[in-house]
Amino acid sequence: MSDARQLFDTYLRQRVAAGERFLVIDQRASQAPVPSRAAPSQPEPAMSQAPPPADESAEPRAGGRRARRADWRRDAPAIPPAGISIAPPAEDLFTSDPLNGATLDAIAHLVRQCRQCSLCEGRINAVPGEGPADARLVVVGEGPGATEDETGRPFVGRAGELLTEILAAIDLPRERVFICNIVKCRPPDNRKPQQDEIDACVPYLYAQLAQIKPAVILAMGGTAAETLLSTKQSLASLRNRVHSFRGTPLIVTYHPAALLRNPHWKKPTWDDVRIARQLADAHA
Ligand code: SF4
Repeated sequence: MSDARQLFDTYLRQRVAAGERFLVIDQRASQAPVPSRAAPSQPEPAMSQAPPPADESAEPRAGGRRARRADWRRDAPAIPPAGISIAPPAEDLFTSDPLNGATLDAIAHLVRQCRQCSLCEGRINAVPGEGPADARLVVVGEGPGATEDETGRPFVGRAGELLTEILAAIDLPRERVFICNIVKCRPPDNRKPQQDEIDACVPYLYAQLAQIKPAVILAMGGTAAETLLSTKQSLASLRNRVHSFRGTPLIVTYHPAALLRNPHWKKPTWDDVRIARQLADAHA
């Protein structure tokens, strides 16, 4: 191992030993020149993941690799006080809404056919969401990006990989979590969805949540938090509260894409997801 890589390796080991569970390498940091006595003209590849601390137990990992993982409960934050409460809607026994009582497959079918807003015009694929019908945790993001649009799957690409890592770190494999977005089609140039697009699309999410009845909802990013909690409060002020969406506990945290831009948010995110994990156990 070259000097530069060894330095970076040591730095990452120290950060993991200090208690960090997943690492986000700032692109600027990973691209910054690192002094290397061995080969100054040869750039070193950036490491995306830190080596494990010595006191953690080995666990199997997708792809045949083995990852070491500390117990997420260690120094987990206490459950915070209650926040905003969104009441369930009044029941309408005479509604002819096709989403009423629809299964997840039926909702996904409707989403793929949907032309309720202008986002359908630029999509390659609608992205209804994926995960088991009995998921204890539902993760809600903002909307599909380019890779999601191409594949029809939510949270793939770099942000999706980070979400997968975060879920694994709280012993909730991605396959056991339902993952979806506020809007199901990609907004052009990854812009924030407009209010009329959210209004047109969010009934699909509400129908999914009604079917799954999760133990906890994790709203990742400002759009998910604002929409589900009907508020314009900042994400920072909505964190560290147990909100209630139609009777289901809801935790607000940063979007993985935001973590990739700003690694300073990963510690609060790690706290938030551990609170969500505790609620998933308590309300299972
Ligand atoms: S974003 Fe939602 S409402 Fe708009 S076309 Fe896609 S599925 Fe329909």
